[in-house]
Amino acid sequence: NSVFSHVVRGPEDPILGVTVAYNKDPSPVKLNLGVGAYRTEEGKPLVLNVVRKAEQLLVNDRSRVKEYLPITGLAEFNKLSAKLMFGANCPAIQENRVTTVQCLSGTGSLRVGAEFLAKHHHQRTIYIPQPTWGNHPKIFTLAGLSVKTYRYYDPATRGLNFQGLVEDLNSAPSGAIVLLHACAHNPTGVDPTFQQWEQIRKLMRSKGLMPFFDSAYQGFASGSLDADAQPVRMFVADGGELLLAQSYAKNMGLYGERIGALSIVCKTADVAGRVESQLKLVIRPMYSNPPIHGASIVAAILKDRDLYNEWTIELKAMADRIISMRQKLFEALHARGTPGDWSHIVKQIGMFTFTGLNTKQVAFMTKEYHIYMTSDGRISMAGLSSKTVPHLADAMHAAVK
Ligand code: PLP
Repeated sequence: NSVFSHVVRGPEDPILGVTVAYNKDPSPVKLNLGVGAYRTEEGKPLVLNVVRKAEQLLVNDRSRVKEYLPITGLAEFNKLSAKLMFGANCPAIQENRVTTVQCLSGTGSLRVGAEFLAKHHHQRTIYIPQPTWGNHPKIFTLAGLSVKTYRYYDPATRGLNFQGLVEDLNSAPSGAIVLLHACAHNPTGVDPTFQQWEQIRKLMRSKGLMPFFDSAYQGFASGSLDADAQPVRMFVADGGELLLAQSYAKNMGLYGERIGALSIVCKTADVAGRVESQLKLVIRPMYSNPPIHGASIVAAILKDRDLYNEWTIELKAMADRIISMRQKLFEALHARGTPGDWSHIVKQIGMFTFTGLNTKQVAFMTKEYHIYMTSDGRISMAGLSSKTVPHLADAMHAAVK
């Protein structure tokens, strides 16, 4: 008899579980719109050309060895990552007030940042948007923070509930941490305007709320790395402190390499140095030090002007294909006379559309049309192609009729 016989089966992850169900479906028309990974027009995963080139450079360099990285990761990668988000002429970087550590993609960066805050920040409550990426509450709770929500999405307008957001941040205790999606909010695809960001910034700074930016989609929202970095740069420009979790999963297509970074912008270089020493104490007992391959790929691309330019072109092509899928789906629903206002499909930003379909309608589409998505009605536009749009539009039409 096993000593583990009392162990009950845990539930599938609500997002990754969609793919598990999809894989079991034998239907030839099945469509997986659950997974947050880019697919080509042919429905295939994409390795960027520029990533292939960078990997070739790494392989050809015989001086490269497989030694451990430092606890904080590849120094060159860390510098370049901070520069990518904060900008080349960022005073905080020039004044050495930023500490950046390589982490295990966006998830690992959030976790390390949260563990640091749980140990060293005077306020252990983090406010996350309602709704948000399903992993957020679990990451922060396990790290030792107490999780509360702020209003974000308004189902009636399928847009931002700005008034609710302001009210909730206003009534948060001074010093509380606030999780902000840097761009392309997941799952809603709804972002504040620049004017609204400015109001959020002023409000948060006046109350001493600590911004923790989650950037999983820089460049994926608009197609421009700099444009998507604007909200974060506004907060850095005021001289205040903040945390940033960066992921290269989507914008370089490096999902399985698990490559990302945590940056903490501090008031002084002295504080940044001490903060970094404490980040090392968080990381060392967790996984010792991060893997070398993904960081080397990213550094090779970011430090070479030609490779960098090539990356921006490939990134824009991914963003543009997603935007064109929004237009195609919107037109297909219009052509079918599907009841309802579907303009949010073209208005929302980034990889996902928050369709407004309810759990029952989603279940219907899976059962009758073999279309897989999360039960909140979120569909990955990156998983769509010109060929599969009509099938999805037929299913949505039947579901809402
Ligand atoms: N944050 C958000 C909002 C996300 O959507 C994702 C991925 O789906 C992540 C973070 C982290 O992804 P990863 O750990 O693969 O970089």
